[in-house]
Amino acid sequence: MYRTHNCGELNESNIGTTVTLCGWVQIVRDMGYVTWIDLRDRYGITQLVFDEERSNQELLEQVRSLGREFVIQVTGEVIERSSKNPQIPTGGIEILTKTLTILNSSLVPPFTIEDKTDGGEELRMKYRYLDIRRNPVKENLIFRSKVAQLIRNYLAQNDFIEVETPVLIKSTPEGARDFVVPSRLNPGQFYALPQSPQTFKQLLMVGGLDKYFQIVKCFRDEDLRADRQPEFTQVDCEMSFVNQEDIINTFEGLTKLLLKELIGVDIPKFPRITYDEAMKKYGNDKPDIRFGMEFIEFNEELKNSGFKIFDEAELIVGINVENCAKYTRKQLDELTDWVKKPQIGANGLVYIKFNEDGTIKSSVDKFYSEDQLKEVLNKSNSKPGDLMLILSGISKKVRPQLSALRMEMAERLRLRNPKKIAPLWVIDFPLLDWDEDENRYVAMHHPFTSPKEEDIKLLESDPSKVRANAYDLVLNGNEIGGGSVRIFNDELQAKMFSLLGFSQEEAKNQFGFLMNAFKYGAPPHAGIALGFDRLVAILGGQEVIRDYIAFPKNNAGRDVMIDTPSPISKEQMKELGILNKVNI
Ligand code: ASP
Repeated sequence: MYRTHNCGELNESNIGTTVTLCGWVQIVRDMGYVTWIDLRDRYGITQLVFDEERSNQELLEQVRSLGREFVIQVTGEVIERSSKNPQIPTGGIEILTKTLTILNSSLVPPFTIEDKTDGGEELRMKYRYLDIRRNPVKENLIFRSKVAQLIRNYLAQNDFIEVETPVLIKSTPEGARDFVVPSRLNPGQFYALPQSPQTFKQLLMVGGLDKYFQIVKCFRDEDLRADRQPEFTQVDCEMSFVNQEDIINTFEGLTKLLLKELIGVDIPKFPRITYDEAMKKYGNDKPDIRFGMEFIEFNEELKNSGFKIFDEAELIVGINVENCAKYTRKQLDELTDWVKKPQIGANGLVYIKFNEDGTIKSSVDKFYSEDQLKEVLNKSNSKPGDLMLILSGISKKVRPQLSALRMEMAERLRLRNPKKIAPLWVIDFPLLDWDEDENRYVAMHHPFTSPKEEDIKLLESDPSKVRANAYDLVLNGNEIGGGSVRIFNDELQAKMFSLLGFSQEEAKNQFGFLMNAFKYGAPPHAGIALGFDRLVAILGGQEVIRDYIAFPKNNAGRDVMIDTPSPISKEQMKELGILNKVNI
């Protein structure tokens, strides 16, 4: 037996017993007459003690040869500590060590294995296995596992069956590029890695499994914006003979359970808003509702007063920022520069200060009377001390710009409190989105999403107006899940493909298997997928998903530890039948 106990479980009740422990040497404190070692394993730290009086010379020699991160096994007696450490569970005892075996030595680690390490991100990623020994990373992985277990239990209790779907598949369009894998046995042909198991879970419904789930890796070859991973994990689910309401209830139930169990928050009912409302109020389909600053439109109040920029704008819209009338000229100029930077793209920023003393000062005083400005402030229920920030232009552009400004102000005012939890459902998404570059409709969710029954008639005449039975679960401004009621009829599915610009031939080649399956009695079905990495990070009170992934990739999609992606040999390329296709 390697050990009788772990390094986190001994306390005063064990005094007098002889124990064997294994672990890593966190630190050796050699005080001359006495030496202490902090021995660490996954469960905690136990102090070992050696001294001139009670330990033999050979043992003391051994102790002197130890370095940080050596792996050792010790046997000794649990004794009471003279100076106790109430911060840790084992702080009342230490082990008077009798024998020590060095199980393995260690090079000096490139950074300190402590909660506050001196290692930068890149270095810690290169030696991720050492990083994982640190409490913050280890605790995050344990937390992730706990979330997964709660999810599995909940879904199992609700009769969901866990089914694995294949990884070497054919493209499932979720709006990103596919990662592809060349087939050696079929030269010139490729598998795609799943962007999601979408078509398979639908086929499982045709197969009669009724309720499916899987905690599954998905792969999307996207430009990696901050904190995205090319491979990520979804809690993927599908149910038969259900409508949107059933899915929302089931997964609201799951989210409520997680919030309650993991952070002790009880939210009786998640609010719901339609996509249109979300865009109108927040300029965003995943609004952060931990704070207000809802959009207020001022076309009526501010158009046609001779201020050309507003007169020509399709939309004039603002947010009321509480207690910011005290912003200085410099701060306002800086904010104007902020909205004008290319990533935001606004032409300028208009402000109205509602000063504490009741006076009003704005950047457009020349064009508007005080009464007109008062009307604006009234409409937005502004209070003395508030600052109104207004943008204008084409709706499609202004809304996201103001949304970005709203988030920026929330950030500056520290309103994005990670301890506060604000979930909501966004429903009634449009079925289609017009892609300017490709000059065609693309599916807003994916091509298998069902239009609303009452909007089907608009499919021919006004496709952009068709709403879908699609829903997103949003938590603190992050989309943590999305799904839809599916099309389960081959004719409607074929129509959808044709709206999306697929020729009959292309649709048949890519998705013939699904349309064929729909000819054999497909049940009505619907589903959802939750972004597991993000969900875990938010529940953990943080927002960086990398911190909750054992071996994440960096912003360039690289694993710097195993150093991949990496070239393959010419022989391998030849074998895979891709040598002739590339120019080497
Ligand atoms: N497959 C979808 C996605 O990955 C989720 C769903 O519709 O169930 O977003």
